[in-house]
Amino acid sequence: MRIFSSPNTLMVDHLRHVLEGEGIACVVQNRFGASAAGEIPPAETWTELWILDAAQRAEAEALVRDAIADTAGGPAWRCAACGAEAEGQYARCWRCGAARGALARPADFQPVERPRHGRRARPAWHWLAWAAAVLLAALLLSRSA
Ligand SMILES: [Zn+2]
Repeated sequence: MRIFSSPNTLMVDHLRHVLEGEGIACVVQNRFGASAAGEIPPAETWTELWILDAAQRAEAEALVRDAIADTAGGPAWRCAACGAEAEGQYARCWRCGAARGALARPADFQPVERPRHGRRARPAWHWLAWAAAVLLAALLLSRSA
């Protein structure tokens, strides 16, 4: 029975591999139908994917759905490594080959600290040392009194 049809023969072949990988026997029909386009209605020239065992229909349809969702991709994304914009169906940057979702910077990247306006943040030890000095002074004053 027919499980999927598309004008994109490559897509049909891809789905056939997916289904066969899951143990679902299938055949591609009408592979060269596109060459007849113009003489018969377009939809009938689409390449079709048929499964041999109708009992596997639900499983096959679920696999097809998942596979299409994977290849259709989401929105366009921007390569974190080089900044190129890539289309949603690509998992890698077309320009530099970085994987989608790769870190923008190496893990050991340290941002450059810029001096802030006004009072600069001081490390904790600074305040501890200052408090200790105040306590020491108070102690000395109370002893000399
Ligand atoms: Zn890139």
